[in-house]
Amino acid sequence: MLIDSHIHLDSGVYSKDLDALLLRANDVGVQKLLTPGTTVESSKKCIEIAQNHNGVYAAVGVHPHDADTAPDGYPDSLSDLLSEEVVVAIGEIGLDFNKNYSKVESQLSIFNAQIKLAKEKNLPMIIHNRDSDEEMENCLKVGDYFNGVIHCYTGDVGFAEKLLSMGFYLGFTGIATFGKKELEDVIKMVPDDRLLVETDGPYMTPVPHRGKRNEPAYVEIIAKRIAELRNASYEEVSDLTTQNCLRLFEKMNNSDD
Ligand SMILES: [Zn+2]
Repeated sequence: MLIDSHIHLDSGVYSKDLDALLLRANDVGVQKLLTPGTTVESSKKCIEIAQNHNGVYAAVGVHPHDADTAPDGYPDSLSDLLSEEVVVAIGEIGLDFNKNYSKVESQLSIFNAQIKLAKEKNLPMIIHNRDSDEEMENCLKVGDYFNGVIHCYTGDVGFAEKLLSMGFYLGFTGIATFGKKELEDVIKMVPDDRLLVETDGPYMTPVPHRGKRNEPAYVEIIAKRIAELRNASYEEVSDLTTQNCLRLFEKMNNSDD
């Protein structure tokens, strides 16, 4: 069994063939998937998809790209959504000083508020971090909450060590197949019990499909590449990443039928 721990199933590019997409994922052993929201509306859509599809779970959160347009009262709206059985985490939250689609101040403000919410509700966080290592570390320390995954990890070994020592898991996407030496070094050093795999679809499509739409079945390609890099078997990597995902996102153990 394999879990796609991060896939944006609410993306418009999946709306026409979502069922076929999930069947193809099932065919290669992907039995559970976690779909994180990026706005309040997107979070609601993710919940609806999770409620209508076996094995799909949701997270609720406002993405740093959408920080500027977060509606007043969004923490209460997110909080209300937590009563739904299929919601297993707070995400996707974080900081992105690379694209800077939203102002730095709004990114910091909504990230801090959502760390607080996750801590209050004792839920794991799904965290996005791009070119914001220093501020990320600071927010997490101030929030004093270290439960979650740094998804689509693309940083260096030094920052990875820091995050691992805080207690975080690291998630890896199709970028693992791009031949980036620095990232490969990180993938080799992550302890067995902190590794997660994810497609981050529809983005980050792995080789040999790079340039096309990503989909959850491709998490198999990513797990195979990670196995190669770690001198492990594919079965070992699928087993340990599945166990890790179910340990971190405890509520994914519940049946969502
Ligand atoms: Zn994402």
